[in-house]
Amino acid sequence: MITAKTKLIGLIGHPVGHSFSPQIHNNAYKQMDMNYVYLAFDIDPDDIENIIDSAKVLNIQGFNVTIPHKTAVIPYLDEIDETAKKIGAVNTIQFRDGIAKGFNTDGMGAVMSLQNYTDVENKDVLIIGAGGAAKAIAFTLINYNIKSMKIANRSRENADVLINNLKDQTEFSNIEYVSLTDASDLIDDVDIIINTTPIGMYPNVDVEPPIKTDKISSKHTVMDIIYNPLKTNLLKQAQANGATVIDGTQMLINQAIESFKIFTDKTPKYEYMEKVLLRELQG
Ligand code: NAP
Repeated sequence: MITAKTKLIGLIGHPVGHSFSPQIHNNAYKQMDMNYVYLAFDIDPDDIENIIDSAKVLNIQGFNVTIPHKTAVIPYLDEIDETAKKIGAVNTIQFRDGIAKGFNTDGMGAVMSLQNYTDVENKDVLIIGAGGAAKAIAFTLINYNIKSMKIANRSRENADVLINNLKDQTEFSNIEYVSLTDASDLIDDVDIIINTTPIGMYPNVDVEPPIKTDKISSKHTVMDIIYNPLKTNLLKQAQANGATVIDGTQMLINQAIESFKIFTDKTPKYEYMEKVLLRELQG
């Protein structure tokens, strides 16, 4: 029941109507008997400063941040976590004692999902795509002693921006660009493959995967961060070849768990969030 002591957490974005975060977080509060409520706020880009100030006045405990505000919120925060600063994007804001601190849990969500299936340490990783999600994943993964990283992307220019960013801001240098075509031939050289492009996402579910899959085998772990459909053609083909496959719901849930911990200092069970998400995805 909502009472005078109920604590408020929210999502800010524009639009926000498609988000599953309210259902995921509110179900966990219910399961854990926590007096919290999670709401979605559609915030105009011109109101970002206002909403951060208002959150402090209203004693809001935290915000998740989604498109298009992930970078725009940064100037209005009091503190920012090191990895989020390097990524240049924030998806979680914690409000404590009048201080707004930004984090990025997207990369952690991906790394936690991988770690549930394979050790990432000393592994050769291929990331397909060089957009916002790829950046969050790349900057987080390099904190886990991976051996090498290849970035395969449609536009070489965008991949080079990410690669130069990583080289300039971190000690990690074993990173190179490969074309999408070359990536298909280099599969043998990598252990972990992560698709961060929208290729295969609903409604375009029948398209060919972003790379050829014939060289994918049981030695590979393949993660697709697309969560609709649950199994993209990339994952279907990789699984048929014996690879370990990880769908995009796992990153989505693990980033939500990381945010939940930052907001409340409590850790929800994976199942509390998974059950609701799968129900919502099945519509
Ligand atoms: P983004 O910043 O727009 O980046 C998109 C990337 O995909 C770019 O590298 C782009 O290549 C590439 N791309 C797009 N269309 C392509 C095409 N037709 N052929 C080849 N490459 C193409 O997007 P994002 O924020 O990183 O998100 C990417 C995907 O991840 C979305 O599907 C999103 O829903 C999903 N996602 C999932 C989670 C999760 O928790 N599971 C979290 C975040 C995002 P160019 O550089 O050449 O344009």
